[in-house]
Formats: sequence, structure tokens, C-alpha cells
Amino acid sequence: MLSEVAEAGQADVDAAVAAARRAYDKTWSKMSGEGRAKYIFRIARLIQERSRELAVLETLDNGKPIRESRDVDLPLVAAHFFYPAGWADKLEFAGYGPDPKSLGVAAQVIPWNFPLLMLAWKVAPALACGNTVVLKPAETTPLTALAFADICQQAGLPPGVVNIITGAGETGRMLVEHPDVDKVAFTGSTEVGKAIQRAVAGTKKKLTLELGGKAANIVFDDAPIDQAIEGIVNGIYFNQGHVCCAGSRLLLQESVADEALASLKRRLTTLRLGDPLDKNTDIGAINSSMQLTKIEELTASGEAEGAERWSPTCAIPDKGFWFPPTVFTNVTQAHRIAREEIFGPVLSVLTFRTPEEAVAKANNTPFGLSAGIWTEKGSRILWMASQMRAGIVWANTFNRFDPTSPFGGFKESGFGREGGVQGLGAYLNVEDPS
Ligand code: NDP
Repeated sequence: MLSEVAEAGQADVDAAVAAARRAYDKTWSKMSGEGRAKYIFRIARLIQERSRELAVLETLDNGKPIRESRDVDLPLVAAHFFYPAGWADKLEFAGYGPDPKSLGVAAQVIPWNFPLLMLAWKVAPALACGNTVVLKPAETTPLTALAFADICQQAGLPPGVVNIITGAGETGRMLVEHPDVDKVAFTGSTEVGKAIQRAVAGTKKKLTLELGGKAANIVFDDAPIDQAIEGIVNGIYFNQGHVCCAGSRLLLQESVADEALASLKRRLTTLRLGDPLDKNTDIGAINSSMQLTKIEELTASGEAEGAERWSPTCAIPDKGFWFPPTVFTNVTQAHRIAREEIFGPVLSVLTFRTPEEAVAKANNTPFGLSAGIWTEKGSRILWMASQMRAGIVWANTFNRFDPTSPFGGFKESGFGREGGVQGLGAYLNVEDPS
């Protein structure tokens, strides 16, 4: 056991929202944009200074490889504070009118797959736009959010501007349903997202939802195959596949399918699974026994429905929750493993012959978060991107994140954008442009 964390009840949620309201009325909404920027820049620099400590804490808490928390999560966390900090005193130039106003108190609920990064995506734009926040991290990964509270104190942030409350789903429910919050921002499962949307309906609360995905990663026969293989591996095995925009459905053009699959399997035999704190580890631990059970149940359904399962031989540690990198072939669009979000290191492979067939298969999902296109032809990239019903489309790369780019979904992947100038709109009293 790493630590024991308090479970916030109704009185704690009320106190946190009241503190955020007081800080909003008395301090934060009255402060100039330059004043807010000064604090947010300070927080960003402290995150950089303490990045080693935060990376280790994230890996201990979440199970993700230290190489990822150190080289991906933490640099992105800092960047996602620096970027909105730069906007705080320039909001009148952001395209939301001459004097855009903040909303008030934001209730933010985040998941366990990128604990500190999801906090950054939520807290930084909210503060830059002049709102105060109450944030609830996931039950299984609250530690970096608590370290972040310490960073806020170190930065001298006025009391009540950022409030972190820990607890389980019920605490999250109390927070989003609290009558004195003006904005709800949620990242997590589609099921909980729908429940929150129902709870918020009929109130004045502004809502953004970032939910699941079942992205297609589409490889054409003219793609640079070696580069595509790296993109496929990064697309689904990064962070044990606990990624909402993961490329969990691989669509291979038939003429290169055998060659690409053989290369992919060769590449997977080189991945190292094990101790997340070892910097040579590629695949870390599954975050919880609950998530492992979900992956096991869905992969079992893949076999039961007739798909063919393959994993490289790799030693699985005796203690903890682990799942080997897995590839399913002979997958049809009707299989559960082609339709449902597995949220684990499991790839479902389908094939196609023509670009039109690739589009039809890629869009044949209730989700619409991301997609990847691998081809040498620029015109095909543009045409395919215009056909994808997905909020993010990567070309000849995958899982690339940048604070200047908006991120968000279509269909059951949610609505509203995070990041970029579009992400500011979610925390201002204006119509959401997305
Ligand atoms: P949830 O949607 O349950 O959790 C996300 C966050 O919401 C957590 O902080 C959770 O708290 C909180 N929460 C749970 N119930 C409520 C509620 N009624 N009202 C307000 N907040 C609530 O995701 P899970 O962790 O249960 O994961 C289940 C599945 O969801 C995964 O297998 C995956 O498929 C998908 N998922 C998608 C993510 C994405 O980024 N799109 C991220 C995480 C999961 P607590 O952690 O304490 O339950």
C-alpha cells in the first residue's frame, strides 16, 4: 500500500465549493490577467523543477512506465500550464469578443490514466480564464493531484482558487451536482459522462465531456511500413493502452496486411513488460484489478466470437496486475473487441481494399475521438481526414499532443474542446465554438 487517502463526503464538497466561490468573488475574478498569468507561470516552473519527484510519484501511483511519465507526461503537464498562462492577459484577442468573462466555479472530475496531465488540461485553462476550481482525481490515482495542491501553496496561489478533494465516484457525483458550481468538466467513461449530462440538464451549468474512443489507425499500401509499425505500437501499447484516443482498431490495406502483421509481431517481441520504475520498461502495470478484469473479459469475448489471439512470449511478474501486448486478427466489425473500448494493450486488426471501405469501417463506431492515416500521398491524407468523424486526425504519426491543438470528440466521445484557443472557450461565458 502506498498511502491512505480521505474520502470526501457532502460536507467536504460543500466546504470546497464554498472556498472556491469565496476565492472567485473576492480575489480571482477581480485580479488582472497579468496577475493570474504570474501565478500560472509560477506553477508551470515549479512543475518543471519538481518534475522528477512528480514522475516517480505518478509511476508509483498509476503503474505507467517511468520513461513515459518522465519523458511524456511531465513535459506535457508543464507545457499545458505554460500555454494557457500566456493567454491569461490576452483573452480579448482570443476571438471571444472584446471582453470575455469567466464563468465562476468549475467542478472538474478526471480519470486515472493520465492523472497529472488531465489535471493540467482542466485546471490551467480554467485559471487562465479567471475561474476557480474544485477538482476530484480518480480514486485509484489521487497522489499527484495532492502534490499539485502543495505546488499551488508553494506558488503562493491565493487560498480557495484551487481545491482538490479526494474520494470515489460518489464524491464526484456530489461535486458535479452541487448547485453552486457554474461549469462541469469531465473526462472518463461514456457511461458516467451520460449520467453527468443527465444530472446537469436543466441547470445553467456549462458542460464539457471527454469520453471514450475506439480509434482507427489506417495503413495504406504506400505507407512507410517501418514508421507505421512504430506508430501502431505507440498508438495502442503506450500507457498500457489506457488511452482514450488509442489506435485500438488497426485497419490494414489488404495488399500489405501480411507483411505489416509480420513486422508488427516481430516488433512486439522486443517490448519489455515489468517494473514500471525501471527506465527500460515499455509496458507497465494495469492500473487496477477492476480494469484488468475488464480487459480479460473483453479479450475472452474476442476468442469466443472467433477472433485469433496472439501475444509475444513475455515473462509476467508474479505480483500485481499485468496484461501482455495482444493482437487479435480475424476480427469482424461485429465483434465486441472491434466495438467496445477495451482500454488495455489490445489491438484488433481489420483489413480493407479501397479508401472508401477504410472510411466506412473507420467511422463504423459510436465513438469519434481520433484516427490515424498512414500514406505517402498528401491528397489522400486530406481526403481521408475530411471523411473521418473524429475530433483529432493524425497523419503519419499517432498520439502526438500539443497544448496549442484542440482535443475533443464527436458522437459518444463527448463534446467541447480542451487545449488550443478553442479550449479557452470552454471556460468563458461565450458560446462554445466547437
Ligand atoms: P469513470 O468514468 O468511472 O471514472 C472517471 C472519473 O469519474 C473518476 O474520477 C471517477 O471516480 C468519477 N466518477 C465515477 N462515477 C461518477 C459519477 N456518478 N459522477 C461523477 N463522477 C464520477 O471511469 P473508470 O475509472 O470506472 O473506467 C471505466 C472505463 O471507462 C475504462 O475501462 C475505460 O474504458 C473508460 N475510461 C475512459 C477514459 C477516457 O479518458 N476517455 C478514462 C478512464 C476510463 P472514481 O475513480 O473514484 O470511480
